[in-house]
Amino acid sequence: MVPEAAVVVYGDGTIQDILVTGDVRAQVRELGPVSKTVPVAAPGFIMPGLVDCHIHAPQYAFTGTGLDLPLMGPHGWLETYTFPVERRMVMDMAHAVRVYSAVVKRTLRSGTTTAAYFGTLHLLPTKALVVILQHYGQRALVGKVCMDRHSPENYCQPLEENLRETQEFVAFCPPTMPTAPGAAALVQPCITPRFVPACSSELQRGLASLAEEHGGLHIQTHVAESIDEVAFCRLLDEREPTCPGYGRDASILDAHGLLTSKTILAHGCHLSPAEITLLAARSSSVAHCPLSNAYFADAVLPVRRLLEAGVRVGLGSDVAGGYEPSMLAAIRACVISSKFLQAGVDHYDHIGGPTTSGPGGPVTSTGGPSPGALEGRNRSSPPASTHGEPPLKRGRPSGGGVGGAANNLREPSEVGFKEAFFLATAGGARALAMEDTVGSLEVGQAFDALVVQPGRSSQRSGLDLFPGDSLETAVEKFLHCGDDRDISQVYVQGRQVLCDGAFDCDDIQVDAVLQALSARTGSEGKVEPN
Ligand SMILES: [Zn+2]
Repeated sequence: MVPEAAVVVYGDGTIQDILVTGDVRAQVRELGPVSKTVPVAAPGFIMPGLVDCHIHAPQYAFTGTGLDLPLMGPHGWLETYTFPVERRMVMDMAHAVRVYSAVVKRTLRSGTTTAAYFGTLHLLPTKALVVILQHYGQRALVGKVCMDRHSPENYCQPLEENLRETQEFVAFCPPTMPTAPGAAALVQPCITPRFVPACSSELQRGLASLAEEHGGLHIQTHVAESIDEVAFCRLLDEREPTCPGYGRDASILDAHGLLTSKTILAHGCHLSPAEITLLAARSSSVAHCPLSNAYFADAVLPVRRLLEAGVRVGLGSDVAGGYEPSMLAAIRACVISSKFLQAGVDHYDHIGGPTTSGPGGPVTSTGGPSPGALEGRNRSSPPASTHGEPPLKRGRPSGGGVGGAANNLREPSEVGFKEAFFLATAGGARALAMEDTVGSLEVGQAFDALVVQPGRSSQRSGLDLFPGDSLETAVEKFLHCGDDRDISQVYVQGRQVLCDGAFDCDDIQVDAVLQALSARTGSEGKVEPN
């Protein structure tokens, strides 16, 4: 191969130089063995690693199933599928190691070099996830999930236990790279209240204090995800005030000190204009999970509105609310959903058809929070508005006229593939407050990157290239039609973790994970599989 470009990488995994002009081969030869060089020839290219701003590691176990229920309620998605699957991780550590290894390997293969993971309520499997991430070499934020109310009895922790175990988890994650003291560790702890409905006021306040005490840790949670979740927060406000008078989860999180410049909020599809302004003021970011939103959110996130308001936005897979662990799928879903938002989803919008309030009829409301269970809503029955917020509506905007009048009135919403690619790389890095380290290929950044050989074999790729296709065409085809078969190498912090489908390490076994946990847990004792 005659390289047309090469990235030169220091021993600590940061980018030393990028060679794109002149005789690249000669320049590489001159460097000698001191630095590692990663060459590439057309139609291949090197691109920044993909950043997944929101993914649930345990939920990978049921990815691709269970998409038939609304989010909340005693018979909703969380109670029926999610909580039992997450709880199994502590009941069966061998299963946890299998699932966590699988999700880390699957996402690395798909080009995700950085991910913000939710673990589970339990400490031990979440520590195991850290060990597994370090083994395979994926950069990550990881959180022990916290829940102390409105959750099933067997998947809920008392306030003090949540705080103590979170503290222990933070201590478990080494703060810096062992090989490069001073550099941020590959795997960092993330304070993780699941969402406002499941976290008491005391828990939210305690977690905010923990984040602050440890020098400003990352925080991740969900916000304004769906009609039923927003309605639940409103009922909480009315029946057991978390912060009297707020009634909206973004405001509640803010009142407890959980909106910081290192807070990542998943979804946000139902954020009010005032809340968007609040997020911008706090420099908190939104993880946009378009595929999951199609199933659970009852709305499309107005990405452009958030960006224009100054909110940082990254993309997330939201496995398993989203069934695709690949960020290429998130890029595509981001573009598609934005086009629907822009153009309208109902042809009546264009021809001025009849207006109704949708299949659920007029606004209704069901009962309030019940102990031990997340309250449900009929997804087609939005609640009435309170606290001066606009009511949540389903159905088409009114006022559509012949010839697309409603369409013409819409604000610009479309996100193109280049912008979606940005959100999945540099934008995602900004959303995770990691832009100084990853997200783009620049001198001084960590070499987190993919070598892509699009269509390198027609039998091993979802795309075809033809004579005359430019490099730009190859990139565009890869983003729309490519998959892991086109990714020949994956690097994280300069380490080649994957080459031609093979990882640079053996599979980690459950015994090795337990041994690592025992060694790092120290005198607190031995770790045994349950
Ligand atoms: Zn989520």
